[in-house]
Amino acid sequence: MAVTAGCGGQGEDGQRKAAAARQHVALKKKAAPPARPAAPPAMRRLDCARLKCVALTYDDGPGAYTGQLLDMLRRSGARATFFMLGENVRGHAHLVRRMAYEGHELANHTWSHPKLTGMSGGAVRSEISRTQRAIQEASGVVPKVFRPPYGATDAQVGRAVGMPQIMWSVDSMDWLHRNMARNVSAGVKQPKPGGVVLFHDIHQATVKATPSILSGLRQRGFTLVTVSELFQARTLRAGSRYTELW
Ligand SMILES: [Zn+2]
Repeated sequence: MAVTAGCGGQGEDGQRKAAAARQHVALKKKAAPPARPAAPPAMRRLDCARLKCVALTYDDGPGAYTGQLLDMLRRSGARATFFMLGENVRGHAHLVRRMAYEGHELANHTWSHPKLTGMSGGAVRSEISRTQRAIQEASGVVPKVFRPPYGATDAQVGRAVGMPQIMWSVDSMDWLHRNMARNVSAGVKQPKPGGVVLFHDIHQATVKATPSILSGLRQRGFTLVTVSELFQARTLRAGSRYTELW
């Protein structure tokens, strides 16, 4: 029954209920999240032959610190690339969606992080296709690039993967030292124009170093781009390996 205040002889009780209902509606309105855009933003058209471009890449997530990292990237207006493990995607689907809608690139890093060299073609294909499906289910986006765990790949793996394989030109070694200052130093000083920097968003010291890395790279005149933005002037071939733009 609809509750209407001040009529139908419901008296004080009816009025109180109506007021409570109005307050509930007001609270609901206040709590509504901002409308999400209909689709993830398109890749930016950038000329990385003229701009100083660098692609920051984050492997092995999403994880406990990925949300903080996304906040930092958003505040800075930077785009990055996430090479994700399929097994971590399902529990963090909201983060994977956020990545897509905030302009980052979603990329494949296998389902369970095995060393692919020596595995059968079928087993490699399964690692790739399960992860493609999980990322697509979470975000609606189908990844276009892949990175082999441990950088371990060969011609046979390349054929089975069937996607461009993105390596890196700067290795932060963040997984080993877990040291914020060393992350900042590697992330700011080592990249050259057209470079690809390897980080892991599953480590807290990496995420904590990010604001300093972003501002340091900006001070050096870099534009922070996704992998596909970096390589947009080149045709990336399935199975081939790429470490940097030049
Ligand atoms: Zn990895």
